[in-house]
Amino acid sequence: MEPSHTMPRRHFLAATAGAALAGALPNTDAGGAEKPVLALDGGEKAVTESPSAARHFGAPERERLEAMLGQDTLFYWKGPQTTLMVERFQQFCPLKYVMPCSSGTAALHIAVAAMGLAPGDEVITAPITDIGTVIGLIYQQGVPVFADLGAATYNLDVADVERRITPKTKAIIAVHLTGNPCDLDALRTLSDKHNLVLIEDCAQAWGAKYHGRPIGTVGHIACFSLQNSKHITCGDGGMAASSDERFGPLLQRFGDKGFDRIKGGQFENFSTNYRMSEPQAAMVAGQLTRLEDIAARRAKLGNALTEQIKGIAGILPHEVHSEDRAVYWFYMFRVQPEAFTCNRDEFTKALAAEGVQCSAGYIPVPLHRNPVFLNHGFFAGHWPVKEMGLTNMDFTKHETPEAEKILATGVRVTIHEEMSEAYIEQCAAAVRKVAEHFAA
Ligand SMILES: *Cc1c(COP(=O)(O)O)cnc(C)c1O
Repeated sequence: MEPSHTMPRRHFLAATAGAALAGALPNTDAGGAEKPVLALDGGEKAVTESPSAARHFGAPERERLEAMLGQDTLFYWKGPQTTLMVERFQQFCPLKYVMPCSSGTAALHIAVAAMGLAPGDEVITAPITDIGTVIGLIYQQGVPVFADLGAATYNLDVADVERRITPKTKAIIAVHLTGNPCDLDALRTLSDKHNLVLIEDCAQAWGAKYHGRPIGTVGHIACFSLQNSKHITCGDGGMAASSDERFGPLLQRFGDKGFDRIKGGQFENFSTNYRMSEPQAAMVAGQLTRLEDIAARRAKLGNALTEQIKGIAGILPHEVHSEDRAVYWFYMFRVQPEAFTCNRDEFTKALAAEGVQCSAGYIPVPLHRNPVFLNHGFFAGHWPVKEMGLTNMDFTKHETPEAEKILATGVRVTIHEEMSEAYIEQCAAAVRKVAEHFAA
């Protein structure tokens, strides 16, 4: 951790001059000082550090893999690595029933199958997310209904969720986008009022906390991803978990061909095979020992970035509730188009040239703007529930205006546990420099 005074004098001056002006007169130079030249135009970069966002695997994973090599089976059921992994998972997410599986997508499929989603049932969720959020529910012949999002939280707007509830609605999938907790108390109250199942998509939220409570523990079922880009990983994997006696005991069989490994016997349920095996579990058991440090570090760095850019005119920082811990799978601020003479893409390009690891937006369009949704063509060009008259969903008419704007004005900044405070300070100085340069 480097203290801020190691920042080159020039950058420090640029930052302080900007701070004095923040929100006031963006076009005026501080005390007649020259505006710094953008790196894009040949000026010096605001960011001198180039942190790596590489993954690290080592002793904790090696220890588990070595132990695994001494076993005569790699099957998940009663596997020692799986058992240890589940214990470690429960230490930070204390849910009674846990089913390890092959991906976050699988976990979400298991969740909607275990809750008994039927053909034509509606599930309200977020339009800005990984498509894995809705793959399983569409396979179960459910209907995704996309609600709009908060302008700076990028999470479900609870009032809009409520507007979209119909007699067919059976569940809400709350996506904690970027690891920023959704308004879970409000969503849980709404779910209870309408008898809905609340599923938490925690794929991007490992180690996050909602009002001090571990993420995944407010809803009925929690789903996590262990895909390579997530906070902890085994390359690909996932976890579905619940303490609800109605759904928890079913998670295992819905990830394991419908077979109940405790009762045995004949098939009472139908599902696919989403099992995780011992090599993945060994990796995850090792990775879980790193989770608290990773989550705490990312929370600190992302919050620091907010603190340092929050006064800049035209910049809308990532909004996190003060009682929550967001774990910043990435950070995203928005540029207010009317505040700048450049567009979002030009802003992002200039910021990247300053040395900030960033990119424009997140997914290109809200999920329902993708061809497969617009064509309602999920199954060889068909959507059985629509053809059977079980839904009249028309994605071409589905509107989530704030989500569209978020994707059009968001700038995604990489946050990684290896980054230093000094790097984040330089990133903030770069945002200020670019914002002042393009101030309208
Ligand atoms: C990654 C992700 C998923 C899907 O997880 P996979 O392991 O890639 O299948 C689902 N939802 C969100 C929010 C994600 O970020």
